[in-house]
Amino acid sequence: MAVGVLIYLDYDNNKAVPAIVISEDTVPEEPIPIVEPQPDFVTLVAAGDNLFHTVVYNASLIEQSYVFDPLYEYIKPYIEPADIAFINQETVLGGAAFGLSGYPQFNTPQELAQTLSAVGFDMVNHATNHSMDRGEAALRATMTLWDSIPQVKYLGIRAEQDQEPGVVLEKNNIIFGFLAYTYGTNGLAVPADKQYLVSLINREKMAEEIDALRPRCDVLVVSMHWGEEYQPHQNAGQEALAAFLAEHKVDIVLGHHPHVLQPVALIPRDGSEPMLCFYSLGNFLSAQKPLATLLGGIAYVKIQKFESHVSIAEYGVIPTVTHYEKNYTNFRVYPLHSYSEDLALLHEQTGPAMQSGYFNTQGTALLGDVQILYNPFDLRNENSVGTDPAS
Ligand SMILES: [Zn+2]
Repeated sequence: MAVGVLIYLDYDNNKAVPAIVISEDTVPEEPIPIVEPQPDFVTLVAAGDNLFHTVVYNASLIEQSYVFDPLYEYIKPYIEPADIAFINQETVLGGAAFGLSGYPQFNTPQELAQTLSAVGFDMVNHATNHSMDRGEAALRATMTLWDSIPQVKYLGIRAEQDQEPGVVLEKNNIIFGFLAYTYGTNGLAVPADKQYLVSLINREKMAEEIDALRPRCDVLVVSMHWGEEYQPHQNAGQEALAAFLAEHKVDIVLGHHPHVLQPVALIPRDGSEPMLCFYSLGNFLSAQKPLATLLGGIAYVKIQKFESHVSIAEYGVIPTVTHYEKNYTNFRVYPLHSYSEDLALLHEQTGPAMQSGYFNTQGTALLGDVQILYNPFDLRNENSVGTDPAS
């Protein structure tokens, strides 16, 4: 009787697990290979501003109901496989009861929540400058809506004072803590006696919340709604806040609000690996016009747990393009690597710069040394890192 060792992958835990197999035949004894257990790892993706202008939801109205799934059909393969998928939902989902609206005080159809969940998002930020656009009631309706989809957690808004400011979750044996803050609410004040409704940037309060959450998790992620709109680089305020977050031992910062891509930076920390800061992920979906606002980026981070520590094993950005056609129809988010010249010719926004090459150049210029990812989830593809071999 021979005893052999067979290795199979435990897909739930991303671990190679040795299993002992007993066979009846008399195969000569071979040395049993020693298999090092693979460390646990988690993949995190994060999408930027999901900004629902009136034309976006009008274009999605089919026979009296809003059908949003097609908007994301080409980008879903880059979201769904991730262990944790974050999105900045710029607008409240108060729904028809409050009257739907686009710019400047947005209120988005509630049907979007099921779509975002179906696409694979499970962490939704609502601490934005638009959270108070339609008042406290629409904000509370948004929270009630998410409460009915328990697999999705929302960040940055709270229904009650004693609700925890952050979200803690465990994936593949790694504990994550999430917090979210916004610089403001467009002059529509958060009621003075209900400051918990929207988490505003306030260093004293942030230090308290971050320091309290830090010992409870392996990886601390902070979502920041900050910076100046349409600026291709972070400003001094963002840099100062990033340094403050690094001092408080934050591991990853997911930045958004400028509607354009901004650089990715490694901010030094005392005694540990640098903090990874995505200053701005740009727009994920919008009806904005400037070409720079049509280029977004999905942050990708692979986090690994070793015996004694947790470490960022890999990170990069998957560039995306918001596509829409004549008279603001046929909205779709595409991965940049599959955005063809033929599609660019159909785009509502025209002009000499409107070519897929423009986005490639722009993305490379802004992201500098940051790894541009083709499809980090397509393990069969040798070129999952770098540019699309087919383009
Ligand atoms: Zn914003």
